[in-house]
Amino acid sequence: MMPFTFHNPTKLIFGDGQLEQLEKEVPMYGKTVLMVYGGGSIKANGLYDRVLQHLNRIQAAVYELPGVEPNPRVSTVRKGVQLCKNHQVDLILAVGGGSVIDCCKAIAVGAKTEIDVWDIITRKSEAKDALPIGTILTLAATGSEMNSGSVITNWETQEKIGWGSPLVFPRFSILEPKNTVSVPENQTVYGIVDIMSHVFEQYFRHTDNVKLQDRYCEGLLRTVIETAPQLMKDLNNAKYRETILYCGTMALNGTISMGAGGDWATHNIEHAVSAVYDIPHGGGLAILFPNWMKHVMDEGLDRFKQFAVRVFDIDPTGKTDREVALQGIEALRSFWNSIGAPSRLADYDIDESKFDAMLDHAMANGPFGHFKKLEREDVRAIYTASL
Ligand code: NAP
Ligand code: FE
Repeated sequence: MMPFTFHNPTKLIFGDGQLEQLEKEVPMYGKTVLMVYGGGSIKANGLYDRVLQHLNRIQAAVYELPGVEPNPRVSTVRKGVQLCKNHQVDLILAVGGGSVIDCCKAIAVGAKTEIDVWDIITRKSEAKDALPIGTILTLAATGSEMNSGSVITNWETQEKIGWGSPLVFPRFSILEPKNTVSVPENQTVYGIVDIMSHVFEQYFRHTDNVKLQDRYCEGLLRTVIETAPQLMKDLNNAKYRETILYCGTMALNGTISMGAGGDWATHNIEHAVSAVYDIPHGGGLAILFPNWMKHVMDEGLDRFKQFAVRVFDIDPTGKTDREVALQGIEALRSFWNSIGAPSRLADYDIDESKFDAMLDHAMANGPFGHFKKLEREDVRAIYTASL
């Protein structure tokens, strides 16, 4: 293991009926709330009204920032920053999926400085302070409800950048499984792919002696693989939603990578695609991850063999490690196909015409990845295999 310090300060409030905890949590930070949400799903499913009822009961002054885009944009972040400054907001309340939460994290640091928030996201300046954030999560996917990361897109420069700061861990996150029941079929699939991908980013590592971390990862993956097909047949089932919701949080709140580290190359490769084409994050990952795996597996066949045997029950008898590893990767592809995930860039009408732009984004900070350090030609090969 590597030495580590684990500190995750987010208060996780989980279960149907827990929304009323807002009335206890919000007053700890003040009276003035900026409520941030997306394109309207929370109005359609009634959550918007329920949240306002609780905020009204504690006589909070509520300002709103609606319209956060999937793949949230820095232009929207800047609007939120201005609202916070104009109204002396005490707490930013994200009501939505990862995009809304990520947007709020950027607003939180932007509101406490005169520096343009894009300079903080691009690491030209350091975040020194942040407004507190609370979240009400509506979509199982990113883990943003219990981590310090955020991904923001600048549509003018076609950049999609992941950044983070311990200052932006949500102070509390309320997860009611029933709020995720209205997530449509395609977004449900993207979320499942994102959750599994977060586990992969932390499972494929060369760190020695990470036995429990491996079992956490494998347990998460097996739980998702068991539950996802049931959920896809029965999208209104609150129990299946609950299981996936909990998996999503646990996959990226730091637990499974303690002392183990991670790779994160495929997220970078995907961000470069969705910066240029604005495709859903989970859709991009479904296309790219198995091709990353095939590209890097020879760097550590025993790890890929362990994945195949322990996660997909591939029988290794009489096979080479490489054959077992490949069967594991094929089993993953079949599994994602079976729940309706995309498998080729062509599914989003993407061909090689903008590969160079994508590669420029992916390589902006030089070679990357830990399982195998990827050079430009490695990434090109992964894009080409994904066509
Ligand atoms: P999202 O972009 O937040 O939401 C996707 C869509 O789902 C939106 O159209 C949204 O509609 C809809 N939706 C959300 N909840 C719904 C509900 N309960 N019922 C019906 N529709 C609902 O999706 P996401 O996958 O959670 O977030 C993706 C973003 O997070 C990407 O930018 C990705 O790069 C980033 N990301 C962040 C992290 C991290 O750790 N911070 C990790 C991985 C990825 P409305 O807009 O109408 O609500
Ligand atoms: Fe992700």
